[in-house]
Amino acid sequence: MDRVTAYIGIGTNLGDRRSHVNHAVEQLDALPDSCLAAVAAVIETEPVGPITQRAYLNTIAAIETGLSPAVLLGCLHAIERQRGRDRRREQRWGPRTLDLDILIFGDRVVQEPGLTIPHRRLAERAFVLVPLAEVAPELLVPGTGHTVRSMLEALMDRSTGMDTNAEGSA
Ligand code: ADP
Ligand code: MG
Repeated sequence: MDRVTAYIGIGTNLGDRRSHVNHAVEQLDALPDSCLAAVAAVIETEPVGPITQRAYLNTIAAIETGLSPAVLLGCLHAIERQRGRDRRREQRWGPRTLDLDILIFGDRVVQEPGLTIPHRRLAERAFVLVPLAEVAPELLVPGTGHTVRSMLEALMDRSTGMDTNAEGSA
């Protein structure tokens, strides 16, 4: 099977956040039939949602992969577990050692139980769009007709005054 470029969102706000990011990037490079193509700068962002919790570190990585989306998602969950993530014990929107999401998978639009690609909250998450726009600003987000850059600009227009870069790092 031909390889495609997949973009993976990386987030962490529990424990040694830097180490979790580094581990995730190393493990993405080590996936079967895959290699790392790019990693964006790591940004610090305020948590979203009702739960009081520590700031997140976020970034995105691009990989070239011959894996299917479903197999890739299983691999991402395995990497999360290596960093102690236990989905059965955690709250929705709550703190997590490592969250790995498939943001974009080539030009594919996937809608299966438990897997939606492009990621269903991509257009509303500056903490994903900012690092994605650093690596692939002109990439067309499949199924939307919008580039990553235009999606980020639209989000910024909707939330004027919001500082998405290194929020809360002071
Ligand atoms: P979050 O939405 O904050 O990433 P979780 O990591 O707990 O929340 O994910 C919840 C579920 O979302 C996962 O069990 C997974 O099956 C599903 N899911 C659907 N689409 C995707 C995707 N593109 N990438 C990762 N997980 C996804
Ligand atoms: Mg997730």
